[in-house]
Amino acid sequence: MQTITELSINQLRLDEHIEQLAQIGKIGDTGVCRLALTPEDIEGINQVRFWMEKAGLVTRMDAFGNLIGRLEGTDSAKPILMVGSHIDSQPYGGRYDGAIGVLGALEAVQCLVEQGIQPRMAIEVIAFCDEEGSRFNKGLFGSRGITNQLEEGELERQDKNGVKRREALASFGCSPSEFAAAVYPPGSIGSYLELHIEQGPVLEAMDAQVGLVTGISGPLWLTVTMKGMAGHAGSVPMVMRHDALVGSAKVIAAFDDMVREDPGAPTVGTVGSLRVFPDSRNIIPEEVSFTVDLRDMEMERRNGLEARLMTLLDEVSSQYGLTYTVTEDTNSEPRYCAESMMSIIRSSAEEMGIVMPELMSGPFHDALALSYVCDYGMIFVRSKDGISHHPSEYSSSEDIALGTEVLYRTIRKMCTGNPPKEAG
Ligand SMILES: [Zn+2]
Repeated sequence: MQTITELSINQLRLDEHIEQLAQIGKIGDTGVCRLALTPEDIEGINQVRFWMEKAGLVTRMDAFGNLIGRLEGTDSAKPILMVGSHIDSQPYGGRYDGAIGVLGALEAVQCLVEQGIQPRMAIEVIAFCDEEGSRFNKGLFGSRGITNQLEEGELERQDKNGVKRREALASFGCSPSEFAAAVYPPGSIGSYLELHIEQGPVLEAMDAQVGLVTGISGPLWLTVTMKGMAGHAGSVPMVMRHDALVGSAKVIAAFDDMVREDPGAPTVGTVGSLRVFPDSRNIIPEEVSFTVDLRDMEMERRNGLEARLMTLLDEVSSQYGLTYTVTEDTNSEPRYCAESMMSIIRSSAEEMGIVMPELMSGPFHDALALSYVCDYGMIFVRSKDGISHHPSEYSSSEDIALGTEVLYRTIRKMCTGNPPKEAG
């Protein structure tokens, strides 16, 4: 796809930043391991902080371990514009997930500074602490922190070496006694923007470099346990069996069919984990637990599928002489992007002569936490083969630059009320 206008942002500098950050916690040729609140993480934060200051931003690390670079606005009474993502990674992760959102935000704001543009509201570029949730098995820590959404017991969560989050935070100089002061008062964040890799194959399939996110779909997480009767695999006749694994297999396959019924809908359903008891080759499975992950942008459709899953469990259980229980582990509603922000992003892309397909986000992002306190908008950059959370994760320099340019133009419109001058 050819862009009509030249880029205002500095693609070379952005590429260098991405490349340099990828050297910190580097694994293999292209991978990154920068787990939250580790020495690699602080090294990454210090590097980004150095770049923020070079760009003219005033930096600080808050009590939740978030790195914030601030550019003052002309009207201190206006709610701020926050732009960012995260720089922590999965243990066997890639260099683009999160990083392009922080470095892209920095590039966009640095570009404003270099053009002598003073925003009306203050802009904060933020690298949120522990988005991934890999180390302490619960993510979005920094973004839930500043929006007052942390839960009981979070500081006592331990990593696999027995280190508590409280201790890991202390190693960063972060103290829970300062949490309350680091929460943003209601209304103080006007809007939030995030640039992120898609982590899915949709844009690539559409041959689009960037996409406009319409919302983050709400995951429903269930654990289903089906119980039958064990017996010797060699002696119990087929008609007398109560095989929990066969019953589960029927449910899992029928559930997949159900979710696929409307190929135009963004609905996705996954059974990703299965536990079989007693898990022996010559014993009829007595008890099987499996997880269900169901996501959709429309609650009505998702609720309908959930109800049908329950009917399915009833039918299969009576057919095979099984009992079942269902526990709900997570139930989030979809969070929609603000139409006003989507329209600014859309018009920024139109000025550049590009069409941004609209798509939902299946994965969570820091934007999910922010969605409860302010309007938010998200821009996706095409991912090669839809791969992420793996060293082979890849987005091209051109695609990232294009996404960053859309981000820059959106920020500029929001903070000046004027469309940017055409370059060249
Ligand atoms: Zn991410």
